[in-house]
Amino acid sequence: MEIDEAREVRTTCPYCGVGCGVLAKVAADGEVSVRGDPSHPANFGRLCSKGSALAETIDLDGRLLHPEIHGRRAGWDEALDLVASTFSQTIAEHGPDAVAFYVSGQLLTEDYYVANKLMKGFVGSANIDTNSRLCMASSVAGHRRAFGSDTVPGTYEDLELADLIVLVGSNLAWCHPVLYQRIAAAREKRPEMKVVLVDPRRTMTADIADMHLAIAPDGDVALFTGLLAYLGRHNALDRAYITAHTTGFGQALFAASVLDLAGVAAATGLSEDELDRFYSLFAATSKTVTVYSQGVNQSSSGTDKVNAIINCHLATGRIGSPGAGPFSVTGQPNAMGGREVGGMANMLAAHMEIENPEHRDRMQRFWTAPAIAERPGLKAVEMFQAVADGRIKALWIMATNPVDSMPDADAVEAAIKACPFVVVSDVLARTDTVRHAHIRLPAAAWGEKDGTVTNSERRISRQRAFLDLPGEARPDWQVVAEVGKRMGFAEAFSYASPSEVFAEHAALSGFENDGARDFDIGAYAGVDAEGYEELAPFQWPAPSPVTPLWPKGGRTTGHQPIRFFADGNFYTPDRKARFIAIRPAVETRTSLDYPLILNTGRIRDHWHTMTRTGKSPRLSQHIAEPFVEIHPADAQRFGIGDADIARVSSPRGDVLVRALVTARQRQGSLFAPMHWTDQFAAKGRLDALTAPLTDPVSGQPALKHVAARIEKF
Ligand code: SF4
Repeated sequence: MEIDEAREVRTTCPYCGVGCGVLAKVAADGEVSVRGDPSHPANFGRLCSKGSALAETIDLDGRLLHPEIHGRRAGWDEALDLVASTFSQTIAEHGPDAVAFYVSGQLLTEDYYVANKLMKGFVGSANIDTNSRLCMASSVAGHRRAFGSDTVPGTYEDLELADLIVLVGSNLAWCHPVLYQRIAAAREKRPEMKVVLVDPRRTMTADIADMHLAIAPDGDVALFTGLLAYLGRHNALDRAYITAHTTGFGQALFAASVLDLAGVAAATGLSEDELDRFYSLFAATSKTVTVYSQGVNQSSSGTDKVNAIINCHLATGRIGSPGAGPFSVTGQPNAMGGREVGGMANMLAAHMEIENPEHRDRMQRFWTAPAIAERPGLKAVEMFQAVADGRIKALWIMATNPVDSMPDADAVEAAIKACPFVVVSDVLARTDTVRHAHIRLPAAAWGEKDGTVTNSERRISRQRAFLDLPGEARPDWQVVAEVGKRMGFAEAFSYASPSEVFAEHAALSGFENDGARDFDIGAYAGVDAEGYEELAPFQWPAPSPVTPLWPKGGRTTGHQPIRFFADGNFYTPDRKARFIAIRPAVETRTSLDYPLILNTGRIRDHWHTMTRTGKSPRLSQHIAEPFVEIHPADAQRFGIGDADIARVSSPRGDVLVRALVTARQRQGSLFAPMHWTDQFAAKGRLDALTAPLTDPVSGQPALKHVAARIEKF
């Protein structure tokens, strides 16, 4: 195949939160190929299997190419008029909280910004939430409790500089493969670097671990409160740091000391010897990074887990310095960008707080907004419950498939089916969610739209279009802006390009900021279309001009990692970090009828509900069908043989999946991936089983702890 070098485009991968740079080339015959961008500081040329197969997922098969109203093809004007008039009428009759947007970490920051602005500043409700609620809301809540802001302190480089990496609830090898590769490469250069994996399952990530702690499900709070108590008992605290830069240490240590080592062992399912080895390694290693992901976040105690981890870093002063810090790794490509623009129901844009009257006032003045939201809106699980009981009468879903991905998915499907007015913006014509839409709006896909995303280390990168828009597809920011105009807000939503949206977003981040808030990219407020086109990846904060702002060709010429909190100043009123007093408590959800704990997650080569990765035969070769992992002793107990078809049930539903009998699985627990829907496998829709049980602080669902049973089919 002839490659036309002149058409090479620098963009980013649309899958996970690593945010790898991608070079996409379009050949003279139109065929697309991709490779890792050697100059992108997230991946330096690496790509994982999913990123490498991107070109296999961009055909037009199954695409939604024209607006539809009640299943018939319609023009954009007719569809947009109907969306705007129905939302306006619903608000007029029932108030602003009768409408809602459910959006996605797949949206670009510009899409997110415009949707959030319309809902929070012009509709006057905060009923905009996102599938990122299912991904990292507990990290956001934990950061805000400890730091006074939603700040990820470290950078990817810290993973290479650390002497000890503690991976908690994170199968990095499959879910963030390029970060795993970076750690593996660093470890090869420095064999003295240690890795500890904390995970109920022995995943592929255990292959680089010196120690695997097969912890009991949700035993993490006990593990890290036990660590804090151990640090206190063994004089391994940084008392000068605690005194100068934190408050609440005494109460946190007191609460943590409620369990002795034997109690921690009982709560975590680990032996005292395992605990002692881990605790002494942590205590002795200054340069420690604790990486955590969905095993921490997707829990009814997710926020406490996050703070239990952060407490240990504050107690040792291990934050904000090279190779040290707590590090939340986000699942989705733009979960971080969504946080920056306030895409969650409990936040305002630019990391301002909805509960803070000064922030609301600032926001209102900046937008000249007629009706700023005054209180947090409904979080994802609550939102669909409000749809079910009729409080929400008009719902707009963008770039996500909640009928398959929300917990208690059958109830969510029933709620959407009964909702009087449902709009879905999507790339595909017939996902399980699109099927129930009254209005279907064709969205631009990866490769067809321009915007920015932010990865887990706060690095903002461009996604660039290299394909023409097919049919009548349009970028989401433009569609939402058109609806905003038709609702009577023409002046506020008259954007001509995504660069104008980005410039406004940047200006807002610097508006009356003065270093008082963490998120600041004010230097980019004046960006024009050309500068936006050339935008090189950069980390925030960037309150003043970076040189060069836009290197020629958009290529990075080197980078200086930016860490937060090196000076010990946080974003609380007294600038001190907060210890959170946490008492370890382990919930039992199993029963005689449902004696096992089902843990859900991802596999290496599929993404979400497979709407894109399901198109690549190559990606389906890795694991071709839905499965459940079960420990040999449990398999014997329940009469399950290897490769049998098994029925896994919870009080809400059941799936039929292939049994994999393996000692990698913890006894008493099952693991099954969340990707398959009924479109790809009969009775494979796993979230029909999961419960709408959430963390009380973050509202994040406990997708990794579901009471279940198994039987041979
Ligand atoms: Fe894409 Fe994540 Fe793989 Fe990088 S690691 S190529 S961002 S899926």
